[in-house]
Amino acid sequence: MNRESNYQSAFQELEEQVKRCDRCGLCSSRTQTVFGEGKLNSKLMLVGEAPGEDEDKTGRPFVGRAGQLLDKILIAAKIDRQAAYVANVVKCRPPNNRTPTQDEILKCGGFLEAQIALIKPKILVALGNTPLKFFLKVSGGITKMRGQWQMWRGVPLFAMFHPSYLLREDSRAVGSPKELTWHDVQELKLRLDELN
Ligand code: SF4
Repeated sequence: MNRESNYQSAFQELEEQVKRCDRCGLCSSRTQTVFGEGKLNSKLMLVGEAPGEDEDKTGRPFVGRAGQLLDKILIAAKIDRQAAYVANVVKCRPPNNRTPTQDEILKCGGFLEAQIALIKPKILVALGNTPLKFFLKVSGGITKMRGQWQMWRGVPLFAMFHPSYLLREDSRAVGSPKELTWHDVQELKLRLDELN
């Protein structure tokens, strides 16, 4: 087996482990797990919170309204989603889209760590408070920390608002979450271009 097929089979094995997982109570209410998708070996990895209703139905991350908005934001900044990898901290949908508990984040987080170890992204993006809590162990810091670079285990980590939050915030006025996100995604694009 060559290196490439070893890599792909390690990824498939991890996905199978997630499919079989019953480490936390979310296994009983899920339709299916949502592992993540995108380019393996990608330079950019975007990490959200947890699957929502559409993701739970399809088994794919960021396909509902929030995912469509994420696509628009990336397209506007000329960032190719197909060249990135997209996943969530928690792989099963929490009932009624509630925020995952600390226990669920802890129990599921090992899968995300394993994904990151395989993908080896050059840039990680935390979308919202849950990934920020997972990576940096801070609570509720997205408003203060968005638009800033941190480091996580040697990987640059950039924080941005979660698109589902932007769906609830209509304003495009200066200083609004949508306007700030426009600046943030351009900063992300600049940093990505520096990698090329
Ligand atoms: S959320 Fe994660 S830890 Fe919990 S059952 Fe699903 S895959 Fe397992």
